Amino acid sequence: MEVKNCKTCGKLFNYVSGPRLCPACIKQLEDKFHEVRDYIRKKPKSELAVIAEECDVSVNQIKQWVREERLSFDKDSPVALECENCGAKILTGRYCKNCKDEMKNGLNAAIAKPDAPKKDRKKMTSTRDAMRFLNR
Ligand SMILES: [Zn+2]
Ligand SMILES: [Zn+2]
Repeated sequence: MEVKNCKTCGKLFNYVSGPRLCPACIKQLEDKFHEVRDYIRKKPKSELAVIAEECDVSVNQIKQWVREERLSFDKDSPVALECENCGAKILTGRYCKNCKDEMKNGLNAAIAKPDAPKKDRKKMTSTRDAMRFLNR
């Protein structure tokens, strides 16, 4: 355990893990989160900037909660979130369902075939050899 300054209030506290915030600020942030979540529930058609202003929280903080999938928007919401992979419109998180499924499948495939990368490396070497041959 180390002692660090809280990122928000600057107070010294015993840092364990996660964001560099003291327990008081973490609690405050949690309260904010609930406030924002309730606000979005009550007024699902609000713009991000309006939510931020009404709840006195930064737009970036709201986006962070969205990326963590703690907050999600209604499909009628004007908030435009885009999949970081393909740019499709999404309501929460960082990726659309398709990209998430693809990533999951890719991950499973990698686990199922642990020798796959080795094979690829071999192929790459032989391709390089072929190219060397062609360049000669
Ligand atoms: Zn603090
Ligand atoms: Zn996508």
